[in-house]
Amino acid sequence: MSVDSDDVCINITNDPDLYFPDGNLVILTRDREGNHTYFRVHQSILSKHSKALSDHIFPDSSNPVREIYDGVPLVEFQEDPRDLNIFLKFLYEPFAAPIQRGDPDIAFKMYGPLKLADRFLIEPLKDTILSYIREDWPLTLNGWDEREALYSRRLQKSQKCTMDDVAPEPASVIRLARKFEPRILPLAFYHLTRLPVNATYGQHNQAPRHARGVRGHLLSPADREKAALGRERMMRWVADRMEALMLDTWQCKGDEGCTLHIYWRVVVLHRLVMRTMDVLTTLRSMRSHKVERGTSDVVEDAVCNDCNARWDQTLNEARHNFFDSLSSFFPDI
Ligand SMILES: [Zn+2]
Repeated sequence: MSVDSDDVCINITNDPDLYFPDGNLVILTRDREGNHTYFRVHQSILSKHSKALSDHIFPDSSNPVREIYDGVPLVEFQEDPRDLNIFLKFLYEPFAAPIQRGDPDIAFKMYGPLKLADRFLIEPLKDTILSYIREDWPLTLNGWDEREALYSRRLQKSQKCTMDDVAPEPASVIRLARKFEPRILPLAFYHLTRLPVNATYGQHNQAPRHARGVRGHLLSPADREKAALGRERMMRWVADRMEALMLDTWQCKGDEGCTLHIYWRVVVLHRLVMRTMDVLTTLRSMRSHKVERGTSDVVEDAVCNDCNARWDQTLNEARHNFFDSLSSFFPDI
């Protein structure tokens, strides 16, 4: 049904999944356009999951004056209808979660339902949603590498997809993590800083398929400042680390003449870091066994086995140190 109000057409609908004829309570929500969606639910089911929710809906049983809709009491929620739909589905259909594990955009879709779970103190639902999020943002370097490899495989499998279709977007994760899971913030900010500042999520008309974007409107000024500061600190870290390693005075134990090639690798490494702003990926891609022969970047086979092994170990240690330092690049501001 739709009605005209002040020349604005408003749709009024009952939620197709969650309007039970025998429910004893109706919840009204309005979306941004003012459209009404009604949910008819059972107080007993809601009470079972959350006393706080029940108390909110029926705050004072001694006050019988309530608005009525379709013959039962009406209560209005400020949440978006889509968020309330997902939230109620978790309560009504716990064995058929409305969001699939592995959905790359889960932080965006579940932010509203997670806020509802938090508001009404439904800890098991919070834990379930956050467990989905944590899968995408592991706290170990090995876990991170596995996720990156997973997204690459997904992209290869689906020829029509872009990376935004198969991997998480950082701004929605940062918004959620700030409130509910601060531990994943350093890694989420790291991902944000390696994306171009003007890369818009889902809009890559001319960009390659692996390009990724950001929902910039979800970032606060403080988020942007934190990202800029972190990017600067990471670049300084790389420069300082490479200098401290004294790679430009590399000594080849076998007198194979590797020094010049190692020096050249360092030049390429700096160039890639500046171009991609992605330190972890660059350090991984610069490992000797990963470098393709014949590229203009590195002549791999000119380096002896011993130097290659030392080079790989050096980069591996640098990667772990860098990962462990992420929180220091993105302090609270
Ligand atoms: Zn050597």
